[in-house]
Amino acid sequence: MFTYVLIILLTLFLLSVYILSSLKEYFYEREKVTMFTKANVVAEVITSKGDIASADITDMIDVTSATKDLFIDKPMRLLVLDTQSMVLYDNDTTNSLKDKIFIKDTVKSALVGITSNSVYQNENASYSMDAAIPVLKDGTTVGVIYLRQSLQDVTDFLHDTQSSLVTLSLIISIMIAVLSALLAGVVTSPLARFTQVADAVAAGNFNQRMDVHGKDEIARLGVAFNTMSQHLMVLEEKRKMFVSDASHELKTPLSTIKLLSESILQSPDIDPEMVREFLVDMNNEVDRLNRIIERLLELTKNDSAHNRAEFETVNVNRLLEVIVRKLRPLAKERGIALSFAHSAEDEVEMLLDKDKIYEAVYNIVDNSIKYTEQGGAVGIRLSTDLNSTIIEIEDNGIGIPKEETGRIFDRFYRVDKARARTTGGTGLGLAIASDAVNLHGGHIEVISEEGVGSRFIIILPYAGK
Ligand code: ADP
Repeated sequence: MFTYVLIILLTLFLLSVYILSSLKEYFYEREKVTMFTKANVVAEVITSKGDIASADITDMIDVTSATKDLFIDKPMRLLVLDTQSMVLYDNDTTNSLKDKIFIKDTVKSALVGITSNSVYQNENASYSMDAAIPVLKDGTTVGVIYLRQSLQDVTDFLHDTQSSLVTLSLIISIMIAVLSALLAGVVTSPLARFTQVADAVAAGNFNQRMDVHGKDEIARLGVAFNTMSQHLMVLEEKRKMFVSDASHELKTPLSTIKLLSESILQSPDIDPEMVREFLVDMNNEVDRLNRIIERLLELTKNDSAHNRAEFETVNVNRLLEVIVRKLRPLAKERGIALSFAHSAEDEVEMLLDKDKIYEAVYNIVDNSIKYTEQGGAVGIRLSTDLNSTIIEIEDNGIGIPKEETGRIFDRFYRVDKARARTTGGTGLGLAIASDAVNLHGGHIEVISEEGVGSRFIIILPYAGK
């Protein structure tokens, strides 16, 4: 508001100065022209009537009504001087200057043949304008016509105009001040509300939303802000869920271990065979805890902002062969045929983070073996298209219910918790796999039917070698 008022005031001030100086110049110029015209008329009258030195100038001027009329509308002092600067005629009723020597700069200039005029200040601080022209006879200066008049009316007019401009400027400034204060209110009130909501969101209150009206910049900012807090809310929900799931998952094996150890401690004459059985169970639970913690560490490492894929040229055929070799004993143990085929003509080589992709494919093949009944088959297929490398893992196992396929990549999500526990699942394998593939700019698709089997398709954009 202050800035507005200041700018407007400055503009009005400069405009007023300009208007006043233009008006002053215009009026002075007009007065000057009028004075010279009148002086010329008088000079013309004198020279046409006779000789300035010998004739009776008073008569000459007085009898000429035209000349007299010149000075009726605006009183003006008229002096006629001879070449010695002596006043031959004075139109003032007192005739006070008659026969006196009258010296003025304008008169001096006129005596040497130069028309001149000036504006000067009187003792009473009012302004006057004078003008003097030479009276010429046959090309020589025979006298001077001197005119003087007060500029009081011009000064008064300029003064009035100045007062009007000042009043106008004040009125405009007040109006601008009121208007800009109102406008500032309109602009700042949504921003103030915005700040309130942003503070609330910053304090963890993610369900706060901006009220969005219209389509202006502030409304767009509001929409973007609401989208951001919506994302934050989802993230926060996921975080809370993760923490509670993780605690639960860690607590379950710990409770089992606690229960088993207490049973041993509280039964002094327990059968050593039973103790051994309990210890085996405890050992399994410790292994399970270890597995969960390792995977959790893996996941948090993937979550960290510094997590970058470390790309190297990887022969994907070799990588898959290693995985098959590693998992073959497990497949054999469960009576499942594990095979690998590749439809690409050449071997596929591309830039990948080898460890991460290894982990991703391993987890998916491991799942297929785990969730397939004895006598089933798991096949891995490698192919390429124009801009991606495709790794498919297919099994004819238990399959996944349609409504669950969207959630199996969530952390700790398992379709059948009891079954997953017996297979040693942690619910983190697919979350780790999808993180790894996403990091490469790819994605994993699932096609599955309950009781028929599942197909996991890893699509990796080809990033050169
Ligand atoms: P888990 O360690 O329990 O296997 P994952 O994240 O690897 O955890 O998998 C999540 C869930 O998805 C599994 O618990 C299982 O219910 C389901 N699942 C994954 N792969 C298969 C598959 N090949 N066949 C059937 N179900 C599967």
